[in-house]
Amino acid sequence: LTVLGLESSCDDTAAAVVRQRDGARPEILASVVKGQAELHAPFGGVVPEIAARAHAEKLDICVEAALAAAGIGLSDLDAIAVTAGPGLIGGVLSGVMCAKGIAAATGLPLVGVNHLAGHALTPRLTDGLDFPYLMLLASGGHCQFLSVEGVEDFTRLGGTIDDAPGEAFDKTAKLLGLPQPGGPAVERAAEAGDARRFAFPRPLMDRPGCDMSFSGLKTALLRARDAVIAEKGGITVQDRADLCASFQAAVRDVLAGKARRAIAAAPVGLTALAVAGGVAANRAIRAALEDVAAEAGLPFVAPPLALCTDNAAMIAWAGLERFRLGARDGMDLAARPRWPLDEKSPALIGTGK
Ligand code: ATP
Ligand code: FE
Repeated sequence: LTVLGLESSCDDTAAAVVRQRDGARPEILASVVKGQAELHAPFGGVVPEIAARAHAEKLDICVEAALAAAGIGLSDLDAIAVTAGPGLIGGVLSGVMCAKGIAAATGLPLVGVNHLAGHALTPRLTDGLDFPYLMLLASGGHCQFLSVEGVEDFTRLGGTIDDAPGEAFDKTAKLLGLPQPGGPAVERAAEAGDARRFAFPRPLMDRPGCDMSFSGLKTALLRARDAVIAEKGGITVQDRADLCASFQAAVRDVLAGKARRAIAAAPVGLTALAVAGGVAANRAIRAALEDVAAEAGLPFVAPPLALCTDNAAMIAWAGLERFRLGARDGMDLAARPRWPLDEKSPALIGTGK
């Protein structure tokens, strides 16, 4: 099977082609991602109208580039997969309209994909994981533990009740005058820092369950920064490094501690602990999660970063998996701003899959 995937739910326009021959490992024939960071930079955040227009302009270009890079034409495809939500509705609509256009012109079947399912199924594309596995999705917009039990079978074990961890890294960077995206900048600064200097909270660790909270950390960081400034009249490079290291350690401890609980709460027979999302790039966090997996006797799976952040290969792959199970969407496929993962998609209801 060969599937073209489209992704346009946030600020990356992407198209990819994934192929799987019977019984063989899937291959990514092409994966094209065009970011919009420079368009949104002047506004300090993603502007939905600008994103939607940019997606509409770039989708066709991305599709052509992906097909060219894969060395195939539309007639070599078996299906078109597209992110149908959740996300910024204008962007999702652009993608769905583009996919419907191609489907109408070629007669190819259309498969709507949940963006989060794309992230959650990526370890099957990269590492061939079997169900069930535990997935930690930790990015700038999301944070949740999912027990992945089937192509359409996810159980959310817990997640953030406020900010996502990537957002906390970004805000921390802003408060300390470091560049965006904040994650890599804070990680770099933290290397020279003392993580024990500031006692930041480990929110919700005293409560049962896998829910997390990161918004209080940013307030704690702001207070600690202001206390240093009040005492010394400014913050030195070392102060900043210590603040970053202490903050990063708090996020690490929460993610690792809750991962331990999620493993305990997940079904027996887990095949791995997998991570996705930009925050999974953080080496300290990754090392702590590796330890948690090792303690539980589980392999730790972290797909390459380009497949952990937003991309269309994961959409093509999730679409391929759904298509193989018989999922087909019609021209009435809707773009959904909200789409909880543990809700079955209409296309498979009644098929018993
Ligand atoms: P989503 O795709 O969930 O809507 P997003 O597009 O913001 O959100 P990603 O592209 O997966 O998500 O990740 C970006 C986030 O990851 C940013 O908040 C960034 O600061 C964070 N991040 C990237 N690298 C690191 C790192 N080394 N340490 C911590 N955080 C990081
Ligand atoms: Fe995403």
